[in-house]
Amino acid sequence: MDNCLFCKIIRREIPAEIVFENEEILAFRDINPQAPEHILLIPKEHINSPAEINEANSRIAGSLVSAAAEIAKDKLPDGYRLVFNCGEIAGQTVFHLHLHLLGGRSLNWPPG
Ligand code: AMP
Ligand code: ZN
Repeated sequence: MDNCLFCKIIRREIPAEIVFENEEILAFRDINPQAPEHILLIPKEHINSPAEINEANSRIAGSLVSAAAEIAKDKLPDGYRLVFNCGEIAGQTVFHLHLHLLGGRSLNWPPG
């Protein structure tokens, strides 16, 4: 998608602190971290939001979670939170599917 911020990061048109990459996924540090570790995992294929995950493309959701688990093994052995925000009302601001990996501090529940 030409004008999508995260597609631009995938194409290296915008810099990011990349922590993991494979054929289908890119992971980079959130520019405005909400915890000592705050990493975003995105599919290289543009999908607008979790609401667009369906039978045909759902494999990518599992790949994002397993990549997050792999990253967290080293960086967050005590635990972490995974979040998909879906829609503006839930706090989604970038409309390219992304999984937040958060940790390194106690995380409140329920969230605000
Ligand atoms: P969400 O609010 O769930 O849509 O999450 C979007 C996230 O992208 C926010 O946590 C932002 O801080 C983060 N973000 C926005 N622009 C950038 C960027 N250029 N590099 C890294 N993270 C970004
Ligand atoms: Zn995109």
